[in-house]
Amino acid sequence: VFVPAARVTRIRVSPTVAAAARARELKAEGRDIVDMTAGEPDFDTPEPVRAAAVAAIEAGQTRYTSTNGTPELRAAIRADFKRRLGLDYADGEITVGGGGKPVLFVALMASLDEGSEVIVPAPYWVSYPDMVLANDGTPVIVECPESDGFKLTPEALEAAITPKTRWLILNSPSNPTGAAYSRAELEALGAVLLRHPQVWVLSDDIYDQVWFSPEPMTTIAAAVPALKGRTLLVNGVSKAYAMTGWRLGYGAGPAPLVAAINKLQSQISSCPSSVSQAAATAALSGNQGFVEEACAAYRERRDYAVARLAAVPGLTCRMPDGAFYLYPGCPGAIGKRTPEGKLIESDEDFVRYLLDSVGVAAVHGAAYGLSPYFRLSIATSLATIEAGCDRIEAAMKALA
Ligand code: PLP
Repeated sequence: VFVPAARVTRIRVSPTVAAAARARELKAEGRDIVDMTAGEPDFDTPEPVRAAAVAAIEAGQTRYTSTNGTPELRAAIRADFKRRLGLDYADGEITVGGGGKPVLFVALMASLDEGSEVIVPAPYWVSYPDMVLANDGTPVIVECPESDGFKLTPEALEAAITPKTRWLILNSPSNPTGAAYSRAELEALGAVLLRHPQVWVLSDDIYDQVWFSPEPMTTIAAAVPALKGRTLLVNGVSKAYAMTGWRLGYGAGPAPLVAAINKLQSQISSCPSSVSQAAATAALSGNQGFVEEACAAYRERRDYAVARLAAVPGLTCRMPDGAFYLYPGCPGAIGKRTPEGKLIESDEDFVRYLLDSVGVAAVHGAAYGLSPYFRLSIATSLATIEAGCDRIEAAMKALA
C-alpha cells in the first residue's frame, strides 16, 4: 500500500476546489444549481491575448525558456509594476512561475525551515495555511473580525510576532472578503514591521486590478518603501485578464530570495509554458480596456448583491473594496431548524442547507478561518446572482 509523506497528511484538498466539484456533480445529475463557488472570472481571455498566443505557436516559441521566463515577459512585468505602483524592480528581482499559487508555494519552500512561523490573517485564502504546513512551517492564524473590516490591526500583528516569525502574508484585496488595505493602514502595519527585521512580507496582490475603492490601489512595498527590501510581491494574469487556465504568475522581490526561488523552480518546472508567457506579455503590455470593463461589471454585481443580501434578516454583508467575492455573515441562521427539522449549528451546516434546499452552491466560512460566514463568488452573470439572492432569501425565511 502507498503511504504518503507526512507533508501530505498534514494538509487538505482545497475546500473551494471540493465545493466547486460538488456543484458540478449535482448539475451533472440534473439538479438546478446556482453555482457561486467559482474562483475565476466568467469572461473569456481577451482576443488580442489569444491572438498573441497563436502567433507565438506559429513562430516556434514552443521550447523551454530560461527558468525566470523570457526577457520580454520580465520586461513587461517590470513595466507593469512601474506603471501601476511606481515600483522599480531590476531584472534579477523578477521570478515567473506557473501561476501565483506555485510562486507563493515555492517562496515558502525557499524560506521556511521546521518551526518557522508565518502569520496568516483570517479570513484567509484557503491555501495559505496548507502551503505553510506542506513546507514545514507553522501557520500562526490571527482572527480579523468584521468589526475591524476583516483586516489585521497593528496591535494584533505586534502580538503575533515572535523571534521565529519569518513571514506575514497580506492579501489585498482579499479572497474571501474583498477587504483591501488603504495606504494609511499599510503604513501602520509597516511601523510595526520596521521594529521586527526578521519578518518579511508575502504580499499576494493577485486581485489588485479588481479594485472599487476611490483611493488608488497600493501595496506595502510602495506604501512603506523601507519594507521593499523584505517584501515579495506576488501577482499574475489569472484574475485581471481572465487567464486562469494559462497558468502564469510572477513575483518581485529581493534578488537573493528570487534566486533561491528560481533555483528551486529549475528543479521543479524548468520554466512556465512558453506560449502562456507570450500571452501574458501581450496581456500586460497591450491595451488595458479589458481590465476596466471587467472591473465595472464586477462592481455592478457587487452593488446589486450586497444590497440584496444585507436586506435579508439574519444575514450581514460587508461591502467589498475589491476582488469578486462576498463574505456574508449568517449569524441569524445558527441555532435555527430547517423545514426538515435539522439543526443548523455551523456555517458548514448552513451551506449544506443552501445546497440541499435551494440549490445554491457556496463555500462555508470555516474553510477560511472565520465563522459564521460563507463565501459567494460574483464572477458569474447578474442573472445568476439575482437567482442566488432570491434563493438565499427564501432559504433564510424557511428557517424556524
Ligand atoms: N492568491 C489568491 C488569494 C487566490 O484567490 C488565487 C486563486 O484563486 C491565487 C493566489 C492564485 O492564482 P493563480 O495561481 O491562478 O495565479
